[in-house]
Amino acid sequence: MEEQSMSINYAEVLKGPHQLAFDITNKCNFRCLHCYNSSGENIVVNNELTDEEVINFIKEIGEMKLFNVCFRGGEPLIRKELIYKCAKLLIEAGTTYVSLVTNGYLMTEDIAYQLKKSGIDRIQISIDGACPTTHDKLRNKKGAFDKAIKAIKILKNVGISNIDVSFCPTSFNIAEFDEVHSLLNELGIKELRVQPLMLLGRANQHLNKIMPTQFQYRQLVKRIHAINLRGKNPIVEWGDPVDHLIRFRTIAANCVSYVSIRANGDIVASPYLPLVVGNIRKYKFSEYWKAGLVTLWQNELPKKNGTKYTFYNGYE
Ligand code: SF4
Repeated sequence: MEEQSMSINYAEVLKGPHQLAFDITNKCNFRCLHCYNSSGENIVVNNELTDEEVINFIKEIGEMKLFNVCFRGGEPLIRKELIYKCAKLLIEAGTTYVSLVTNGYLMTEDIAYQLKKSGIDRIQISIDGACPTTHDKLRNKKGAFDKAIKAIKILKNVGISNIDVSFCPTSFNIAEFDEVHSLLNELGIKELRVQPLMLLGRANQHLNKIMPTQFQYRQLVKRIHAINLRGKNPIVEWGDPVDHLIRFRTIAANCVSYVSIRANGDIVASPYLPLVVGNIRKYKFSEYWKAGLVTLWQNELPKKNGTKYTFYNGYE
């Protein structure tokens, strides 16, 4: 029997990526020592999309009915009114989830209520220590710990269903990991994300102050395994921050599942990869998608760039 070849036109089949992360602003009320994109001080800050440009982009991706659109920053709540509008538009258009990553400092009952009302039901907050001393040191902001804990309580009170916490291990907070876990258990958190420090942006400038040793990483991985074996919430998700780059250039190379948009409209292959492939000020996102963004990872350039980054995962 003659063999039949079947080629798929991914741009025809897929309307858009599974997930889209959007830095709605790169302005930030913090200057965290480990911030991978140097928020508040990078070149994007003074060239951000206007409210009108953001709304037009959101209307366009609303039509794609994506699985998840995540608002990040910077501190997204600096543009909270715009986020309410965007989330509402996305949910009304059929987006499955709209999520948000915040440092929690600006959270109030009213903001939490407005977020919930606009359709945001997944929020991630960072807790980087078991006490103000360590958390505030990394976050470079007095009062950051107390406000982050308060934000979690506020979000729970208004009924946000999915509140995840992220923890960034550093040389001075890593020993507190078990205490952080216990604290989050008391707060009713179900998922804790931990990943090795990204050696980019401000983290690079502060390596000598914050970089854990290999021994500290190994100890942390052992603690994570022990905690997960006990099955006590929150379940800890430990992963290499760049493992998506391996997936994208190998098993998921046929079609792009995740796209990141910077606050100035740049489309990047990954938030951790300095490879800009377009800008939504120049052409519509859907035009980029059809013109080849959908199969971006089949190209040599992102593949080659993607191999430059490897991070310690604690298993060696
Ligand atoms: S890590 Fe988050 S909160 Fe800290 S400076 Fe960067 S964007 Fe702001």
